[in-house]
Amino acid sequence: MSDKPQIGIVYHPNYFIHTNDNHPEKKERLQAILTQLKEEELFVKLQQLAPYPATADEIGTVHTKQHIEHLRGLCERRATYLDPDTYLTPQSYDVALLSAGGALTAMRAVMDNKLKTCYALSRPPGHHAEPNRGMGFCLFNNGAIATRHALEEYNLSRILYLDWDVHHGNGVQKTFYHDPRVLFVSIHQSPAYPGTGHVNETGEGEGKGYTVNIPLPPGCGDRHYAKVFDQIVMPLADKFKPELLMVSAGQDAYHEDPLAGMCISFEGFANMARHAKKIADKYTDGKAVLFLEGGYHLRGLSEAVITILSEFGGWERPINPEPAPNMTPMYDDPDAIIEAVKKASMLLNS
Ligand SMILES: [Zn+2]
Repeated sequence: MSDKPQIGIVYHPNYFIHTNDNHPEKKERLQAILTQLKEEELFVKLQQLAPYPATADEIGTVHTKQHIEHLRGLCERRATYLDPDTYLTPQSYDVALLSAGGALTAMRAVMDNKLKTCYALSRPPGHHAEPNRGMGFCLFNNGAIATRHALEEYNLSRILYLDWDVHHGNGVQKTFYHDPRVLFVSIHQSPAYPGTGHVNETGEGEGKGYTVNIPLPPGCGDRHYAKVFDQIVMPLADKFKPELLMVSAGQDAYHEDPLAGMCISFEGFANMARHAKKIADKYTDGKAVLFLEGGYHLRGLSEAVITILSEFGGWERPINPEPAPNMTPMYDDPDAIIEAVKKASMLLNS
């Protein structure tokens, strides 16, 4: 490898075209991240990669032809919504291809040893999009498409797919529910959108045991997430020994996020990134691909993304010490859920 930074981001100005001023998933999210990177003069520490529009064939390795054609037709007819949560613009189909292409670009940059870590700052996000439908602000499942191509193009057999977006990554789960080559681990708020991700959803057929859901009640904070990493995520990685790490890194567990009720501070995000990097360093020769998903508090999103990049890049940038409120989790006892997840995991008990 050269002296160039070993960490990079993928983005494109056309990611701003898919936007809606009255919706939380708007272009200002990505603009906030890029503005802060610029203000802190951090672009010199990053390789910047441009995405390409993924082809319908590439998308078709995860999504049905019907879904792809339906979305294309809706945009052509200038429809404004795919479902009540998910807006469209006439350009959204093309931007969604570019968003998926960003995830593929990030994955190949890492697999071809051009970078150790690459964060695809793709919009629209992807982890809710299921094989036969988009939903939850997501049109195509960027992370699932990149994962499928990593399996096929690089002949991998063990990918750890970690999803710490505050919402359950139902689309990724569904894509690989029967596939033991992808260990899908999701930490999410429950109850919350989309309502899936229960402890007893553990995979089916050959994939049995390779889906692990950790549904935490609202009000959980850094110490609960730290316990999840120490007692579930790290032991799972030690059992599975991944060849590649993928992360659906949405930052809506941030304590001020308007769409969720978790209490994660920037130190909390740093801790998650530190653990993820530890897994990559131990098992994947450092290879990690991250995908932007949610995160709707603009300053919280940008600060969290930069905190994560800083941990993966080994930058000497102090972690923003802003404290998160110490709330009492509601409805359920997180410690009891962690125990239930450990009990339900075939991999941890093997
Ligand atoms: Zn989310």
